Amino acid sequence: MNTTDIAVVGCGPVGALLAGELRLAGVDAVVLERSPGPNVHSRAFRLQTATLELLDARGLLEDFLATAVRIPKTHFAGIRPPLLDLDRLDSEHPFTLGIPQSLTEAHLERWARGLGAQVRRGHEVLGVEQDGGGVRLDVEGPGGRYRLDAAYVVGCDGGRSTVRKLSGIGFPGREGTVSALLGDVTLDDPDAFPSGIPGTLRTATGLVMAVAMPGTGVRVFTCEFDRPVPPRDRPVTLDELRAAVRRVVGADVGMREPTWMARFTDASRIVAAYRQGRVFLAGDAAHVHFPIGAQGLNLGLQDAVNLGWKLAGRVRGWAPDTLLDTYDPERRPVAERVVRETRAQVALMNPDERIDPLRELFRELLAIGDVNLHLSRLLTGLDARYPTDVDAGAHPLVGRRAPALRLAGGVRVAQLLRRGRPVLLNLEPAAFTLPAAVLPHVDVVTGREEGAGTAAALLIRPDGAVAWVAGPDEDPQEAGKRLRGTLATYFAGAG
Ligand SMILES: Cc1cc2nc3c(=O)[nH]c(=O)nc-3n(C[C@H](O)[C@H](O)[C@H](O)COP(=O)(O)OP(=O)(O)OC[C@H]3O[C@@H](n4cnc5c(N)ncnc54)[C@H](O)[C@@H]3O)c2cc1C
Repeated sequence: MNTTDIAVVGCGPVGALLAGELRLAGVDAVVLERSPGPNVHSRAFRLQTATLELLDARGLLEDFLATAVRIPKTHFAGIRPPLLDLDRLDSEHPFTLGIPQSLTEAHLERWARGLGAQVRRGHEVLGVEQDGGGVRLDVEGPGGRYRLDAAYVVGCDGGRSTVRKLSGIGFPGREGTVSALLGDVTLDDPDAFPSGIPGTLRTATGLVMAVAMPGTGVRVFTCEFDRPVPPRDRPVTLDELRAAVRRVVGADVGMREPTWMARFTDASRIVAAYRQGRVFLAGDAAHVHFPIGAQGLNLGLQDAVNLGWKLAGRVRGWAPDTLLDTYDPERRPVAERVVRETRAQVALMNPDERIDPLRELFRELLAIGDVNLHLSRLLTGLDARYPTDVDAGAHPLVGRRAPALRLAGGVRVAQLLRRGRPVLLNLEPAAFTLPAAVLPHVDVVTGREEGAGTAAALLIRPDGAVAWVAGPDEDPQEAGKRLRGTLATYFAGAG
């Protein structure tokens, strides 16, 4: 069949999650992926706390936990000690998860397929055209060239996104100045590796890092700050990696049998528009930055979960078109914050001795509990807040992720979100109701909150963000009036 509701270009982690979100909301999704088989190489190795909350809200967390390791501490800008104490985070999952990207992708693709997403591997998108009625994709598949028609297309096709380029959407930002390499190699003498394994060594010329890779030897990273940055697609050779290590540590390190090598930089860019008519961008297609702090994939997954239910609501007819316009203003500030913070970390990592006093100052700051917590929340995605101008004077929880409250009987908020639908949660004795036009699209749950009263009632979006709150002591009539205003943002016919 060559028509679908939503065409998703790219079956990396972001495309796979988006496809699952769309199917969960009951719309058709075809995923076009140019690579014939699953990705076997992993750039990313960390899932952050906000992502774990999202996986929990879809009932996927147990599978991930079973195949990963919990990491309760992480570093900021390679400064250690002190490390960031993630176990102090205000989350039911106060840690990051060590899991290779290939496994994350496999879990998400299996979930999406299980929900009925059609993943077409070996299908490359070569053309994108849109008009008021839909989008036409020109696709090269194993059986030749064909056309796919969709109501909307989402480019989840990585940093060099074809969808972005073909749509003429700009990708402004900064060129890379750091030349970084990675290589999965076998070391002649792992015990003598200059940084230790795992470890980081910062010298006057750059950084070398090493981590053990399950089954594939050691991953060696180099970062050099004072060299020309080669084109991203120039293949890396073992000699080049060895030479970079030599320049940083001042001695030869024996390494052989590379299984995968890649180059990356600190180029930082955010797309000029997350939406252009019927074309949307998510994940690396919308933003790139240096991979310090392990955030890019996580940021992209949050894009997918922000966009999926909005698109589905539009296709199914219950959401106004203006809801799709909230994607850019909600996700852009989050990406801007990550780009700023990764640039700050890169600046602190610079081996220039003039940076040393700044690192020492940061070392002191990191030992202060509140600073440590602030940076932990920043890196793990917990501090994101969507703009709340739809509801000026809104409760402080509006725009933030739903609080992890429990209902009597032990039901958690994450469990209420498993169907991927909005939830109106009345905390007894509250009894807010919804207009008939909205009722079929929202799960209304009534329960007693265990412990202190967080709120009288909350409207929680499918992505876990709070849309509306009735405060514990608020006049129910006033709160109900505000609820009706909020509903008009999300539901056609609710005004
Ligand atoms: C060294 C390194 C370490 C990193 N570590 C972390 C980490 O620990 N945590 C973290 O959160 N992030 C990390 N990142 C970043 C992370 O890898 C990316 O942010 C993530 O892969 C982005 O996912 P994506 O789905 O947006 O794009 P991609 O993973 O790039 O997937 C895009 C997909 O689109 C397909 N595609 C492209 N063009 C077309 C086309 N025309 N037609 C059809 N298909 C197409 C590609 O084949 C690919 O499968 C790291 C990055 C690097 C370089």
